[in-house]
Amino acid sequence: MLEFIDQALLTSTIGIACFAIGAWLGSQYPDIDRWALLRLRHRSGVTHSFLLPSLLWLGWFLSGIQWADWFVAGFSGGVGLHLAFDLFPEKWRGFALIDVPKWGRCTRTVSTAWLFANLFLCVFISVSIVPVLGPAGILAYIATLAALYLYGIMAKKEHFAAGPLLTILTLGGDAL
Ligand SMILES: [Zn+2]
Repeated sequence: MLEFIDQALLTSTIGIACFAIGAWLGSQYPDIDRWALLRLRHRSGVTHSFLLPSLLWLGWFLSGIQWADWFVAGFSGGVGLHLAFDLFPEKWRGFALIDVPKWGRCTRTVSTAWLFANLFLCVFISVSIVPVLGPAGILAYIATLAALYLYGIMAKKEHFAAGPLLTILTLGGDAL
């Protein structure tokens, strides 16, 4: 019996760790568009989208690699959180606008719609995996995203901190 509990605890702990690592990487990933090597312009529509989360989801779905579900759920949630913050810039100007390669910066309306739609899809991917993970998954979800959210507010000195949170909660509720 004790062995069984130990095993379950170990499984949950590794899962939560994979989720947390995924969420952290996901929250940082969209801004790799600043890396000169990638030849993207900042706030690129390529990285500020559900593209990579959906590819990772597909990779998990097809391969069924252990812990990948935890990682992908965390990663998609992290990207969603990043997009939720980007949805509330101080001013809709310059880098706040989504850049499409070879096209240029989108208008404010298109950028808002882009971020909102992709945020929804990231949250949808993430939330769709959580039931597979069980109660430990819900715990990982709440704890990790709350920690990253607080970190985001502190790092950005967010003036309207409720905006991203309300957006993500509303979308998360819809996706469920
Ligand atoms: Zn960004």
